[in-house]
Amino acid sequence: MNNRRKRRAEFARFRRETGGALLTWLVDANDPAMREAPPLLVGAAHLWCENLLAAPRHCICCLSLIWNRREVGALLLSMPMNATNSMSVNAVCARCWAHQALDEIEHAATDVLRAVVPNGHFEALPC
Ligand SMILES: [Zn+2]
Repeated sequence: MNNRRKRRAEFARFRRETGGALLTWLVDANDPAMREAPPLLVGAAHLWCENLLAAPRHCICCLSLIWNRREVGALLLSMPMNATNSMSVNAVCARCWAHQALDEIEHAATDVLRAVVPNGHFEALPC
C-alpha cells in the first residue's frame, strides 16, 4: 500500500475503534515524560516526533509544516476509550503553542478530532 492509502486505512480503523469516544491529552512537548498520558501513547508520540524529518506534519492551528521535534510545541494525543493499540498523534507548532490562546488551540483540536468523532466535544475527566 502506498502511504496515503495506508494512512487512510489506519484512519478508518481508528475511527471504527473509537466507538464515539476518545480519550485525549494535550501535552507540552517539552515535558518528555508526558506524565499524564499512558506509556503506550507516550512511546507513539516519541516515535512520531522522530519521524518528522521523513514525514513532516501540519500544525493543527496554523497548518504550517513541522519538520523537527524542536518545532513541536505541544502534542495532541488520543486513543479510543476502550483502548486497543490504536492511537493518534497531532501537533501544535511551537509558535502557536506560545502565542495562541488555549481556546483557539482547543478549537483546532476539536476540529481535528471531529473527523473521528462527529460532533464530538471535550469533557473533563472526573478526577
Ligand atoms: Zn502553528
